[in-house]
Amino acid sequence: MEKIKILIVEDELLIAENLAMKLRKFGYIIAGIVSSGKAALKYINSDKPDLILMDIAIKGNMDGIETAAKIGEQEEIPIIYLTAYADDETLERATRTNCYGYILKPFKDRELHATIKVALKKYQEQTEIKNSLQEAINQYSAEHNSIHIDSLTKLPNRLVLRDLCEYLLSKYKNSSAIESEDKETGARTKSSNISRIKKNILGVMYLELDRFHRINDSLGNENGDLLIKAVAERLKKYSDNFEHESCIVRLHNSEFAILLAGITLRQKVADFARTVLAEINKPFLIADREIFLTASIGIAFYPFDHTEIDELLKQAKRAMKHAQEQGGNQYKFYTAALKMIGYIIPEDYLSLETDLHYALERKELQLYYQPKINLSTGQIVGAEALIRWNHPKLGLVPPEKFIYIAEASSLIESIGEWVLKEACKKTKNWHQAGFDHLITAVNLSGRQFKQLDLFHRLTQLLFDSNLDPRFIEVELTEKILVDNIKANIQRMNLIKKLGISISIDDFGTGYSSLGYLQQFPFDTLKIDQCFIKNIDQNPTNAIITKTIIDMAHQLNLKVVAEGVETEAELDFLIKHECDEIQGYLLSRPLPTREFEQLLVSKKCFPISSYALSNS
Ligand code: C2E
Ligand code: MG
Ligand code: MG
Repeated sequence: MEKIKILIVEDELLIAENLAMKLRKFGYIIAGIVSSGKAALKYINSDKPDLILMDIAIKGNMDGIETAAKIGEQEEIPIIYLTAYADDETLERATRTNCYGYILKPFKDRELHATIKVALKKYQEQTEIKNSLQEAINQYSAEHNSIHIDSLTKLPNRLVLRDLCEYLLSKYKNSSAIESEDKETGARTKSSNISRIKKNILGVMYLELDRFHRINDSLGNENGDLLIKAVAERLKKYSDNFEHESCIVRLHNSEFAILLAGITLRQKVADFARTVLAEINKPFLIADREIFLTASIGIAFYPFDHTEIDELLKQAKRAMKHAQEQGGNQYKFYTAALKMIGYIIPEDYLSLETDLHYALERKELQLYYQPKINLSTGQIVGAEALIRWNHPKLGLVPPEKFIYIAEASSLIESIGEWVLKEACKKTKNWHQAGFDHLITAVNLSGRQFKQLDLFHRLTQLLFDSNLDPRFIEVELTEKILVDNIKANIQRMNLIKKLGISISIDDFGTGYSSLGYLQQFPFDTLKIDQCFIKNIDQNPTNAIITKTIIDMAHQLNLKVVAEGVETEAELDFLIKHECDEIQGYLLSRPLPTREFEQLLVSKKCFPISSYALSNS
């Protein structure tokens, strides 16, 4: 068993120290001693103890019970109250929180030890029940919700892929607190960090039967269907007997996805793929004929290759295509990740994550600012803040190489908070220097947007920086918004209530239905750079961009084009009345000083001359 970490919330230092000493004697680790509810909440935000000993009468404007209730809103942590009073009302209030025990002062050491043990046991049981309950719910909905089931194979279909991934990931996240033994090696993991990361890995396999159309062509579609059904059954049977958690999804025709959770070695996934291929090579009996099949498999890993399931699946599919091109009947790993972080992914990943932990305190993070230019005036109207990591060994690391690591751990929360704080501070400085019209846009990651206390954090930030909220804009990507739409709309409304505006980033790369995006209360739409590229020569991009601009204007949204690199692209955007642009043509993202120099030296870009020169 890993050692249990206990947080003590007690405002009398002597009592707290004495308690700590006793707990250490019993073999517990003291996560910390704090003296107020506020400090306890702050602590919980940065680390999660296994248990909390909470004095009820503590100083500050929250007592222990109110503090526990607040903690319960954020985290499920067992709490034991220590108190000198036991009146009915207090008891009643305490039981309504995540109370796992109640000890009256003064108490004996053994009493304390026993209460803690009972509380931990209770917590563990509850967590287990919750997990199996979740499993049962999933199974039930899989069996009963026919739109999520493929009618031919009775496997879950593409619509549930995301849910399945989230479920598998959350399952391993929850269990890592209890289970400290590495299933693969049987060895005890030394660091909870390692076990947490390993258990958050998900392998995504994309499988397609090779040249399946020839079966349909020669045996007819009906027999083709029977064959697919037989393949599905064989895959399911094999994966059900596999030692790790796995799920199979029918994607399309003869394409399947297989999700593998709780795997810590690439080799295991390779073995799995090899066996699946061998299973498919065994003959199938359809319409009294023996049929021989082969398949190609591509494999990508969450979170190393991508943290978005749609993207992961695309990467796995690319790897699968590669396997097909090599002749089929084989598997391939998606390789961009290998190039990026070396061979044995988990270990390197871990060291990057560790470095990233220190990046903030070592002041290695830096914001660059890319100006946004208004197309009717040529004026710099604001900037997008873009993060960079000055890694001591690797040099300047772009966000795409580390944001996903921060996202997969809770680091993104502190990094995101730093970005917001820094951006507000700089914007305030610029305003004070006379550039008081500048609006700074900050990118929010999914995890940041979904933080429970985002609203409070933003309020605090605006208060601390004394910046008018109209001058801060947050950028969210479509992908963040599609699950749990109702809650996301509420969250966005809260942000807007503060006076902060919202823009939708990389528009067009996700779900792109303006009809449904209309429900979201955003102010600005940023057309993704892939549509802007060669817009003057690529008729499809031209039509898409033109349509997006028109529709957005009808919905009273401002339109920004990203990634403008050539005068011809700019010219097109001017002609079609795009409102603002961002791009290398006018300026790359710049470090603060250079951005400030640009502000001073270039009051206006000669936009109209670009347009004229091309008309
Ligand atoms: P994004 O928000 O879509 O940012 C635009 C990206 O396009 C930036 O890449 C920018 O440098 C690049 N760009 C701008 N103009 C041009 C151009 O003319 N041509 C080309 N080829 N590229 C151009 P960057 O800075 O590498 O950032 C990549 C992504 O990382 C951002 O995409 C954003 O999603 C994310 N990111 C950046 N900073 C943060 C941050 O502070 N927090 C979070 N959560 N994500 C961030
Ligand atoms: Mg952005
Ligand atoms: Mg963008």
